[in-house]
Amino acid sequence: MTRKKGNIFVISAPSGAGKTTLCKELIDFFPELRHSVSYTTRPIRNGEVDGRDYHFVDQATFDQMIAAGAFAEWAMVHGNSYGTSLQTLQQAIDSGSDILLEIDCQGAMQLKKHLAEAIFVFILPPNLEELRRRLVGRHTDADEVIEKRIYNASEEIKEAAWYDHIVVNDQFNLALAQLKAIIQGSSY
Ligand code: 5GP
Repeated sequence: MTRKKGNIFVISAPSGAGKTTLCKELIDFFPELRHSVSYTTRPIRNGEVDGRDYHFVDQATFDQMIAAGAFAEWAMVHGNSYGTSLQTLQQAIDSGSDILLEIDCQGAMQLKKHLAEAIFVFILPPNLEELRRRLVGRHTDADEVIEKRIYNASEEIKEAAWYDHIVVNDQFNLALAQLKAIIQGSSY
């Protein structure tokens, strides 16, 4: 059987739903799946590496990139700007690599309009209380940021309806198995 390459997987989730950990596992599991490194104006967190987790840029640089048409999509999320480089995406498409984009619903919707062939996956937390517990537990954000993220999550969850697949991250291994099945099922 010949493997069909060049799939674009777009994964969205409210922050705290476990998306980043799940996506890291997927990248480790599928050797041909590449992670799209987004640009952001958000301050770098402890443990993050510039160029690996994100390209961290200031607002002026981000604005210049918007003006230059450098983004396939971009959005303001929790008060910071985030965008997917058009060049990164185009290179992946041209080379036939599978690529994984972890982006918010606004960005995903922009891509849906231009890249109907992409596979859109939404990861849901089991409930908002569990989401709060996870956000508090990871000790990366201030209280007001957590409240903003929970409010945003309640809004974002409404968007799940138009995604191709919904995965509930209640039990991590089960959610991971479902995501692997979605990727495998789309790749042949
Ligand atoms: P975090 O700051 O917690 O890493 O990410 C916050 C949100 O921004 C997450 O929902 C994440 O998916 C989203 N995000 C990350 N990169 C991009 C991007 O390139 N474009 C868009 N639209 N959202 C992004």
